[in-house]
Amino acid sequence: MARRTGSPFEAAGRHAKARSAWRDIPIEQWNDLRWQLEHLVRTPDALGALLGLPAEELAALRAQGQRFRWAISPYYFSLIDPNDPADPIRRMVVPSSQEDLSSGEDDPLGEKHDQVAPGLTHRYPDRVLFVVTSFCSSYCRFCIRKRNWRKSDAARSRDEIDEAIRYLRAHEEVRDVLVSGGDPLTLPHEQLEYILSRVREIPHIELVRIGSREPVMLPMRIDDALCRVLDRNGPLWINTHFNHPNELTEEAATACERLARLGIPLGNQSVLLAGVNDDVGTLKKLFQGLLRIRVRPYYLYQADPVVGATHLRTSVSKGIEIMEGLRGHTTGLAVPTFVVDAPGGGGKIPLAPDYVVERTADRLVLRNYAGETFVYPDGGRPAEASKPAALDVRYGRGATRALPVLSAAAPVDNDGE
Ligand SMILES: *Cc1c(COP(=O)(O)O)cnc(C)c1O
Ligand code: SF4
Repeated sequence: MARRTGSPFEAAGRHAKARSAWRDIPIEQWNDLRWQLEHLVRTPDALGALLGLPAEELAALRAQGQRFRWAISPYYFSLIDPNDPADPIRRMVVPSSQEDLSSGEDDPLGEKHDQVAPGLTHRYPDRVLFVVTSFCSSYCRFCIRKRNWRKSDAARSRDEIDEAIRYLRAHEEVRDVLVSGGDPLTLPHEQLEYILSRVREIPHIELVRIGSREPVMLPMRIDDALCRVLDRNGPLWINTHFNHPNELTEEAATACERLARLGIPLGNQSVLLAGVNDDVGTLKKLFQGLLRIRVRPYYLYQADPVVGATHLRTSVSKGIEIMEGLRGHTTGLAVPTFVVDAPGGGGKIPLAPDYVVERTADRLVLRNYAGETFVYPDGGRPAEASKPAALDVRYGRGATRALPVLSAAAPVDNDGE
């Protein structure tokens, strides 16, 4: 693969390994998936040695145990600056005594409630979420599905997968399947192949998407063998999950490049996290960096009140303020949609700054990103509605079909009249 000179990723993680406890590990081993998985950091002693944690903190971690599992790949761990207690990567994956297990919820999005078959959540009319494993190669403290970690690492059984496939076959309204987890790209290749090919076979499924954090947490996973499985079962879309510019390493860039070269469109879903990425500068750098590796920022999630992670939550207005600082200040390609996932299965609700300063029957006062205001003459309905005959001319005999659209617009236009 062509190596860029003056790579935009040098500043971040490129030299992390060199600075880290693994600096003497030969690069071939470092890049070997198996070596990474055999050397996961997952005991308080290992953590203590790597970060020089005080005795009280280690005692607290031992007491906490693996109530909410933790494990961190050496690769991802190497992005942490061990001398910085506030390091953003550390905040995301290293367990701490700050985790208040008495506050927050088990299933903040009510996913269990909408479950229609093993791992299948059918909440929206035309698409489903298909959780195929609870395993990840590193675990995020803020994960909304940490309730699943308490079960075994095992991915779903063949029988469970088949039951979910039967549901999909029977429901022709489902045209879009989002394969998620856990992390589906951690599955053994045969298992991933089985799931993707069975989903792909269903005639009415038009879109198959995978959600995976492997490009970020274990980019060596995106190897030739995995790429072959993905390529055989395409077309696919992949959404990954970068949260901080320090994750934009050469390795991550290579992983994304490999996927992009298979013709897989790449999107990114970030979570807004206190003390990690809750400022415009950090997220702008992240989103612009993602575009450089052909990853399109898709969603920015408000952090949900999941148990043990309330210290990572921000206010909703922080998210809106960040959106305000992005839109117009950089390309729209670098601006994701900020969403709150409503409790109890309400789904994603987009939130954005309000750019409408004032609205009357025929004009709007709008403000732009720089805070300047503009009067904009409204178009459409009021003029056309007074001349229904004109509609008939325009739409011919099917004119009535145009009417529901007009009446749908009416409440907005009549506002305040
Ligand atoms: C997010 C989500 C989807 C996919 O939503 P898109 O907006 O299409 O990306 C589908 N089902 C569930 C339950 C989800 O949470
Ligand atoms: S990678 Fe995703 S599924 Fe896995 S722990 Fe992190 S947020 Fe949860």
